[in-house]
Amino acid sequence: METNACSIEPVVKTEGPALVSKSSRPGGTIVDVNGIRIGGREIVIMAGPCAVENEEQLSHSARSVRAGGASLLRGGAFKPRTSPYSFQGLGREGLEMLARARNETGMSVVTEVMDTRQVATVARYADMLQIGSRNMQNFPLLKEAGMSSKPILLKRGMMATIDEYLNAAEYILSQGNTQVVLCERGIRTFETSTRYTLDLNAIPILKQRTHLPVIVDPSHGTGIRSLVAPMAKASIAAGADGLLVEVHYRPDTALCDGSQSLYPEEFKKLMEDLTKVAHAVGRTIHVL
Ligand code: PEP
Ligand code: MN
Repeated sequence: METNACSIEPVVKTEGPALVSKSSRPGGTIVDVNGIRIGGREIVIMAGPCAVENEEQLSHSARSVRAGGASLLRGGAFKPRTSPYSFQGLGREGLEMLARARNETGMSVVTEVMDTRQVATVARYADMLQIGSRNMQNFPLLKEAGMSSKPILLKRGMMATIDEYLNAAEYILSQGNTQVVLCERGIRTFETSTRYTLDLNAIPILKQRTHLPVIVDPSHGTGIRSLVAPMAKASIAAGADGLLVEVHYRPDTALCDGSQSLYPEEFKKLMEDLTKVAHAVGRTIHVL
């Protein structure tokens, strides 16, 4: 038996959570969002504003990400804000705007659910439910999401280890919902030059340890617009199955996360560059 160098305690090697482990599905899981398959050879791009603010903002932003080549539309109707006095999202009205944007653009919608009491309502409007970083260990919410038939986008807690993250996903799978996509979105470190530190290590580690698809959010991971494109490209090069990118038609007016949101032209250029990076690693970008 292996021992630690400075103690006689045996090193206990646990298998880790069972249902999410790679060995339980070595071929990998494909998460299907209305026919868009995440986790295969194709890379899936989700893009849109941080928050749904009004009809015009969402409609313009949705049309620009669609034109740029995104497959899913993102946008929060329920926003987890650090201050209770910041814009909290439009709630149900925002969900209705997302549904209209879906009809207008043909894009499926991913949006955040923050509370067990919202799951049924959000699931009526959304095609994929996002569980945010701050709720990664909200165990009742994870269980409720596990009872939903909608695919789940589970973001990594900003202070969560890979083990804690995999256990959070296990909560969802243990309730019967195997349609879970993981999303690295940056962790807290001593570094203050960026909003978070995007942990690119998480991509290959997660791909080795679980069969679930792994995407990256370079917007929250950096917090700085000019860093989003380089880290998006690095994420694809490192093996990510997709990206979640904040794009706003007028970032300077955004009610939330404007300084990390791409302008539509920047998003379009990024998509062109990503096509080349994807090709270099033997993959293609999904197009609607
Ligand atoms: C978001 O995607 O807008 C968001 C709030 O992300 P996170 O939960 O990763 O902070
Ligand atoms: Mn945001």
